Amino acid sequence: MRMGAMFTDVIRALFQRPATRQYPFERTASPDRLRGKLNWDAEKCTGCSLCVKDCPAQALEVFMVDKANKRVVLRYHLDRCTYCAQCVVSCRQSALTMAHDEWELADTDKKLFTITCGDDADVQRLADLAPKGVNEQT
Ligand code: SF4
Ligand code: SF4
Repeated sequence: MRMGAMFTDVIRALFQRPATRQYPFERTASPDRLRGKLNWDAEKCTGCSLCVKDCPAQALEVFMVDKANKRVVLRYHLDRCTYCAQCVVSCRQSALTMAHDEWELADTDKKLFTITCGDDADVQRLADLAPKGVNEQT
């Protein structure tokens, strides 16, 4: 590169805005179609387990904790999820969605990657049932 052209580039760079962003202090909105953390609507879920069967990463478990009252608990293994959205497509009740604005999911504590979702009472029921063997819909 000739010295003149290089000098021009240096001068231009001094007055231009930086091409990089100061993440995480400077943020842009995530696109609507970004596939982030899976969300589950307990009220819509029937416990059919289609999502579990279709998940290629074995990232989901569904537990029917009270069959008579159709109470379900979903366990989501965030660290196995590939964000493919197959479960969202498979769910006939539209009980699963992927949050476009929840994508900063890295953590140093592995325990945080196993998320048990459901009503507090149902989650407790699952914990009580676990030693005896719960009706796991996998
Ligand atoms: S496919 Fe939908 S309705 Fe069936 S268990 Fe999964 S989330 Fe619930
Ligand atoms: S997004 Fe894909 S990998 Fe993640 S839970 Fe759903 S089906 Fe499984």
